[in-house]
Amino acid sequence: MKGLRFFQSIQAKVIIIYVLLILIAMQLIGVYFVRTLESYFKNDFIESHNIQAELLTQWVEKYLNEETKLGDTKKTYAEMNDVVNKLFANSSAEIQVIDANGFVLTTSMASHQAIIGQKNTQTEVNRALQGIKDNQRMFTDFDGVRKMIITKPVGSGVKVNGAIYIIASMEELYSTMNRINQFLITGTMIALGLTAGLGVVLSATITSPIKAITRQATAVAEGRFNEKVAVFGKDEIGQLGQTFNFMMERLRDALSLNEEEKEKLASILSNMNDGLIATDDDGRVIVVNRRAKQILELTEDDIVGRTLPEVLGITRETMKELQSGDDPMMMLQFYHEGEEEHLSVRVTFTTVYSKEKGSASTIAMLQDVTDQEKLEEARREFVANVSHELRTPLTTIKSYLEALEDGALEEPQLAGKFVNVTRNETERMIRLVTDLLQLSRLDSKQAIIGREITDVAEMLEEVADRFAFQLEQRDIAIEVKVDPEVAEIMLDRDRIDQVLDNLVSNAIKYTPDGGHITLMARRLDMKQLEVSVQDTGIGIPKKDLSRIFERFYRVDKARSRNMGGTGLGLSIAREIVRAHGGTIGLESEFGQGTKVTFTLPYTMEEAAG
Ligand code: ADP
Repeated sequence: MKGLRFFQSIQAKVIIIYVLLILIAMQLIGVYFVRTLESYFKNDFIESHNIQAELLTQWVEKYLNEETKLGDTKKTYAEMNDVVNKLFANSSAEIQVIDANGFVLTTSMASHQAIIGQKNTQTEVNRALQGIKDNQRMFTDFDGVRKMIITKPVGSGVKVNGAIYIIASMEELYSTMNRINQFLITGTMIALGLTAGLGVVLSATITSPIKAITRQATAVAEGRFNEKVAVFGKDEIGQLGQTFNFMMERLRDALSLNEEEKEKLASILSNMNDGLIATDDDGRVIVVNRRAKQILELTEDDIVGRTLPEVLGITRETMKELQSGDDPMMMLQFYHEGEEEHLSVRVTFTTVYSKEKGSASTIAMLQDVTDQEKLEEARREFVANVSHELRTPLTTIKSYLEALEDGALEEPQLAGKFVNVTRNETERMIRLVTDLLQLSRLDSKQAIIGREITDVAEMLEEVADRFAFQLEQRDIAIEVKVDPEVAEIMLDRDRIDQVLDNLVSNAIKYTPDGGHITLMARRLDMKQLEVSVQDTGIGIPKKDLSRIFERFYRVDKARSRNMGGTGLGLSIAREIVRAHGGTIGLESEFGQGTKVTFTLPYTMEEAAG
């Protein structure tokens, strides 16, 4: 497996290419070189033997020519034999001189003297004796030795006196060629070996940076960004390494940015006031935030992996209908264990389409609108109350005016009475509007609390004085009890006066003649002053106590109206006390009396003093 992988590597390919190139080059050069050399050697061999034969023909002519032949033939031949023997003793070739009939006269081969006088019947000899000049033939003898035969006619002109016969072994030539071949093969082998070695080294310079980059790429894929590719040069691979390092940095930055974004998103999700549930393409929940879990009162495990309709407790059809509609919003109510009131939740579905995948996931936003709904309800109630409160006096005024128009004007006594009623009603309306304005100012925090140093005892005395006439008329006694520890306090005198006026006027209104009212002030602790208005009046039934500070809330509407009350006195008192940073409370025993108590904080310096 490892071997197989090596052959697939660039390194192996480079080495193989090098080796093949060298092999082909050497082969081409070798073939061309060997062929050229071989033909050169052969030509040289043939030529030199031809020259030898040519020279010999000229030299032996005088021995073979009948006319020029001198003396005894035998002696002449012996001499010729002797010369040829001596001349070619060291030659590897055998040279024969043949007479015109084809009989061997001389041979240069000492061991071959026996053939003298025998007929040489070789074709080439016959051809030469026939006067043909160029006769040569290559052949391989029985021993496998390659030989060449060259014959030349001896004689001038048409007359042929004999022939020269040369038979030469070509073995030396071929062995030389073999040696050269051997040399070439060895050279090729060495060149190939060197090339392979060089190939390994050279290809390593290419492949090792590539391997390093591959290693680095693997590291990046596994999320390790801290290593870098070493760049050694400015060549293409160096540039690749540089680009890779750059790309890695960019990738790291992009990933860390992504990570940051994710963390941001996670923190936004967990700190969101609204609940959020997101599903995947199959409609299964994959993300749910803290608020959503609180609203649904479920754990993450209960929600993740389930479908939205399951989690929200609605049917699939409802959800589909909503999602396909223009306003994918619905109201749901959740009842939590141990809590009296239900939670009103507005659920908005958003479908997120993925163009690439061609699928859609859903995001459900859960908004807790319980407080908003309560507020809305309170506002509706308030508007209804205001309208009602205004309509009653207006209707009364209208009916009295009509009565006056219809003739009551003629009767001065009745007319005076009617005008009186309309004035009373108008005053009540003015009071109501003034109270409403004041409440609205306190609500919108426009009312500035301008504190001034105030003597509490003096302030309470003044309240009692203001109501002295009314109290006397109703025969109600008033008592002011101020603890000696109560020091001066910083407060908005006008506003606190209004609180006290509201409370005392209530006490008077709801206390029968001959009753008793007590105004008390004491220091609750170092930091707070407590003021209370107590009466011995009709009291308030228990069931109404919790709502008594609500706007327009009255125990007995008719009575309150008759008394000229607007139903806003206690709520104004509460707003003013709250604006001072204090609290207000009411205790009452039905038929026994009522005690309204409020506290006001001392400022830091006063508390210290
Ligand atoms: P109103 O103008 O009707 O007095 P308030 O807000 O001052 O409006 O008081 C609200 C209601 O609380 C009154 O209608 C009355 O029923 C009850 N109430 C207030 N003070 C007293 C009290 N001292 N004794 C008995 N009932 C009281």
